[in-house]
Amino acid sequence: MSAALELSRHDLDIHLIEKSHFLGGQAIHYSCKANGTCQGCNACLVEEQLKRINEAENVHLHLASRIRGIEQKGGTYQLETRQLPLFDSEEEQEALGRLALTKGWEHVVQRGPSGHNSPLYALNWSAIEETPDLAETVPEAAKRLNLKKKPRSELIQAEAVIPATGFQPFDPRRIGTFNYPRLSNVVSALDMEKIRRSSGYHLRPSDSARPGRIAFIQCVGSRSMAQGNLWCSRVCCPYALRMARAMQAEQPGSEITFFYMDLQNCGRNSEKTLSTCRSDFRFVRIMPVDILPGDNDSPIVRYMSREETIQEESFDLVVLSVGMEPGPENARIARMLDIGLNRHGFLRAESGPDGTSSQEKVVFPAGAATGPKDIAESMEQATEAVKDLLVSLNSQGKKNHGYERSLDFHANTGHRSGSDRPYRSP
Ligand code: SF4
Ligand code: SF4
Repeated sequence: MSAALELSRHDLDIHLIEKSHFLGGQAIHYSCKANGTCQGCNACLVEEQLKRINEAENVHLHLASRIRGIEQKGGTYQLETRQLPLFDSEEEQEALGRLALTKGWEHVVQRGPSGHNSPLYALNWSAIEETPDLAETVPEAAKRLNLKKKPRSELIQAEAVIPATGFQPFDPRRIGTFNYPRLSNVVSALDMEKIRRSSGYHLRPSDSARPGRIAFIQCVGSRSMAQGNLWCSRVCCPYALRMARAMQAEQPGSEITFFYMDLQNCGRNSEKTLSTCRSDFRFVRIMPVDILPGDNDSPIVRYMSREETIQEESFDLVVLSVGMEPGPENARIARMLDIGLNRHGFLRAESGPDGTSSQEKVVFPAGAATGPKDIAESMEQATEAVKDLLVSLNSQGKKNHGYERSLDFHANTGHRSGSDRPYRSP
């Protein structure tokens, strides 16, 4: 979104291709961590970008679109996408909104994580596919939706490509001894972001109570030989500390413990933040062995103390600070664009004279697709990618790029893009 907005200030057509129904990636799920004062988490910047994208006349959105192939022909890239059907008219959005409130049908509708997602509602096609005769039994609210709409293909031509495929949060189910998600009050930091964002507070999933004793476990899925993820994810120390400070502000007197291997001094003001946190929280420099069920759904964290005795501590809530992994599509996208991956599987971020830009190749990877980054760093890199892209286009004497629709591919679509924005429910 940052790169598209930066480019939109120039005389260019920008096609923003997003595989999900909703723009914003992982970051749109993040909650505000203000604890009386702003903690600079930048979650609100993502909201702002989303709002601005909806207003940008020359940014054409292609939601729910998966890239099937990329060909480079005569100095342009031809991107073939397959787009799931959208229901973006006012009438369809109202029908989906009503369906989302119909008992037994909630799972068939997805709602965008932000009020700025446009369209706000989408059909959950997996749920439709899992129940083939669903279309025959829809309630009155959804009768006007054509559930038999087919996906469509699209050809997009571009003179340069910015792959910004983001990252994948580590899945804590891969550490079986942590019993995630079998223990309802063991949550990932991303789960906690979503809870805070939807309810405005940090609550225990099991009973929606405010937890008084909270544990954070750092480096979950990062710096780990066992998981094959040797890198530091760089963002999880700052985000966990900010979240803990926000939690303590919401629930004064709560006791927060950090289990950690190392605390990375990364991010702006982290020295100052760390020294304040050291007096407010308890830090235990141990990686817990396992998390077990306890009374009242309170998980028990078990670890080996420095004195080599087994310790067990009960908490109301355990938050797993999961790290960042390369996006699952990185290898496929890199292959199609003929660019490299680094040794961990992130896209190579090289550009300029020694990088991926040349007379033949104009590709500028950006954001967390190139390695762990926070929101501000991702936005900064997007700006750099745009600068390199414009220099490259100018040096090649190219000013604008065209957009070619294949009429054959568009027989069954009602999707609109650019200035012709779909309806967004208030
Ligand atoms: S804490 Fe984060 S989301 Fe809240 S105002 Fe500050 S930067 Fe924005
Ligand atoms: S940022 Fe902190 S929690 Fe995340 S991997 Fe690095 S040291 Fe571990």
